[in-house]
Amino acid sequence: MTFQALRGTSDLLAGELARWEAVERTVRRLARRYGYQELRTPVIEDAALFSRSVGETSNIVQKEMFRFEDRGGREIVLRPEGTAAVVRAYLEHHLHKTQGFAKLFYLGPMFRAERPQAGRMRQFHQFGVEAVGSSSPWLDAEVITLCLEMLKACGLTDASLLLASMGCRADQAKSAERLRKRLAPHRAELCKDCQSRFDKNVFRVLDCKNPTCREIVWSEKRSPFVLCAECEAHFAQVKRALADVGIAFNESAVFARGLDYYTRTVFEVRSSRLGAQDAVTAGGRYDHLVKELGGPDVGAIGFAAGIERLLMAVHGGTPSDAADDHRAGIYVAVARPDLLAGGFSLVQRLRRRGVTALMDYEGRSLKAQFREADDARCQWVAILGEQELKTQSVTVKDLAQGSQRTIALDAFVEEAAQGVKAACHR
Ligand code: ATP
Ligand code: MG
Repeated sequence: MTFQALRGTSDLLAGELARWEAVERTVRRLARRYGYQELRTPVIEDAALFSRSVGETSNIVQKEMFRFEDRGGREIVLRPEGTAAVVRAYLEHHLHKTQGFAKLFYLGPMFRAERPQAGRMRQFHQFGVEAVGSSSPWLDAEVITLCLEMLKACGLTDASLLLASMGCRADQAKSAERLRKRLAPHRAELCKDCQSRFDKNVFRVLDCKNPTCREIVWSEKRSPFVLCAECEAHFAQVKRALADVGIAFNESAVFARGLDYYTRTVFEVRSSRLGAQDAVTAGGRYDHLVKELGGPDVGAIGFAAGIERLLMAVHGGTPSDAADDHRAGIYVAVARPDLLAGGFSLVQRLRRRGVTALMDYEGRSLKAQFREADDARCQWVAILGEQELKTQSVTVKDLAQGSQRTIALDAFVEEAAQGVKAACHR
């Protein structure tokens, strides 16, 4: 009997993981540079958290959540997104009282029961940023700038930023009316989902992936969004701030986000290198969510980026700090199986001093051990033979340069440890 990973999930092996680690390092480095702190929330949450925030009629809640009842009869879901959980944690840990304003980021797996295809998985991974507790338009500009800087530092060279304002709740009521009027003549042509969205949340039609719905939406050149003076001023300030720091954006008349919690600024970053699933990042302001989840009436904004899609879009080019084809580390090779004890004690001494050290425990030939050292991209092979054991020394071969020398064991460990230290301080 054999098993396979479930449809829409995948294993990540060492070669591919190097690119993931580069993304994770880049995200952490930049998030901290902008003053965001990491938050890790559980993978399982109360189902109601998402129906209340993302919205009962959203795709995510209606069709995409992995939902189950636990042994105590509670409705649990595998988290489909990060924002609601971040706000839950912000309130649960009283960050609204102790800090007021909190700048948080996360990295981790999300789960949606979607039809798997390129760039669409059932377990996928996101990194995201949430600034909770402020309505300042400068924060919109900061979050969008950080988003683009992260994508660029991860190697995305063709990011295009789509920007819109959906206005406040009062504006949205008026805009929805206007959009319904414009779409009414095409109502019968819309997909089944959009037919029912039409009355409940008509903005979702703008976000629909169905080709016919897309065509109908795109044939309309006028934005349905009516903005009040305050929302207009907010949006103008966001755009000015972005322009001031050299961030180019496209304002689309028919762009909106299909989650209930969005207000005012919404954005998406797309890449032309992706096919139908062309959005790498999506985000926006959610000024009512904190209150709706039982907290104070404060604004917030954030985004989430899909790591699988990001890596698809930078394929070919590697994330900037992933180029890792240089040799490093020491392979300890033993000439005979009875020297394994000496080898084991040497790799341990090296590892404790911070040096990457590998060895083989199977008693393979020296030739096989050299091959393994080469495959593992080690820089040195330290050979322990009978002679070396007697004189407490080691013969070191530099695989990059081909040179070889014999050196006292203690001196070798010291030299290797100093080398690591020097590399760390470079
Ligand atoms: P889409 O419109 O492609 O379904 P979405 O609007 O559902 O995306 P969000 O919930 O805003 O996406 O998530 C933000 C990002 O997470 C997306 O831009 C995408 O990169 C990634 N993402 C979302 N769903 C998936 C998925 N099923 N598989 C892989 N990545 C995903
Ligand atoms: Mg989706």
